[in-house]
Amino acid sequence: MSRPVRFNIHPKQPDIHDNIALAEMPEGVQGEGYFATGLERALTLARKNSLWPLPFATSCCGIEFMATMGSHYDLSRFGSERLGFTPRQCDLLMVMGTIAKKMAPVLRQVYLQMAEPRWVMAVGACASSGGIFDTYSVLQGIDQVIPVDVYVPGCPPRPEAILDGFMRIQELVHNESLRRRNSEHYKALLGSYGIQ
Ligand code: SF4
Repeated sequence: MSRPVRFNIHPKQPDIHDNIALAEMPEGVQGEGYFATGLERALTLARKNSLWPLPFATSCCGIEFMATMGSHYDLSRFGSERLGFTPRQCDLLMVMGTIAKKMAPVLRQVYLQMAEPRWVMAVGACASSGGIFDTYSVLQGIDQVIPVDVYVPGCPPRPEAILDGFMRIQELVHNESLRRRNSEHYKALLGSYGIQ
C-alpha cells in the first residue's frame, strides 16, 4: 500500500496542492511543439528564481533571517535555499545587523569579491541607516561604502518584510537588461564608490 503524503497540505484547504503556482513563462512565440523567446528573458527568469544569498549577519536582524530560512517562511520556495558563506558563487549580499565602522572595510571587501551580476539588500534599520546607534563607532548605513538595491525597514523587520524585500530584488533581477552592468550609468555608480 502506498504511503499517503499529507504534509504541505493546509488542513482547511486540502486541495491546496492543486493550486501550486509554477514560475511564469517568459514572453515569446509558441506553436505546436515549439516555444521561442529572447535570451535575455530566459536568462533573467533563471537568475530571478535561483538567487544565492550571502548572509552577512552581525546582530539581531540575523535572527529574523534564520526564521526566514526556517520551514514556516521558507526562503527556499524562491529558489534560494543554497546559502553561501563565501563571495565566490553568491549573487545576493544580504546585510543584516549593525555594521561598525571597523567592519565596513570587511563588508566592502566581501562585496568586491562577488562576481557580477550582484545585488545588495540592506535588512533592517541598522544596515539601512545605522538605526538607533547614532554613534561615532557605527556606520550610518551600508550605502556609505557599497551600492544598495533594496532597503528593508524595521528594527527588526519581520520575516514577511524580508521576503517582501527579497521579492523586490527578484523584480529587479527579472527586469534588468543584460547590458546594464556594462553601461556608463552603472560604471558611474560604482565609480562614485571608488570601485573600478
Ligand atoms: S535594526 Fe534593530 S533588530 Fe536589526 S540589528 Fe539593528 S538593532 Fe538589531
